Amino acid sequence: MKSTSPNQNFSLTSIFCSTFGHRYEKSKKITNHISEYKCKTCGQEVTNVVSGRIEILTFKNRKINACLSEFFQKKLQQTPTH
Ligand SMILES: [Zn+2]
Repeated sequence: MKSTSPNQNFSLTSIFCSTFGHRYEKSKKITNHISEYKCKTCGQEVTNVVSGRIEILTFKNRKINACLSEFFQKKLQQTPTH
């Protein structure tokens, strides 16, 4: 007998989000213009992309953000403080 994993909770929250919209809160700052956000209800993660749009935080986007973040931090450290 094959047991199915319960995903009742997931579908309920996604119904809630598709009805009322996601409740994103900032989870990680990448650069001054790019941040990652996480939905407080269903846990879906999104990110700003360089073009200014909001995209789902896929593995690819996460990788891009990690590179951007590293670059941004280095740039911050190099900038002399006045
Ligand atoms: Zn959501």
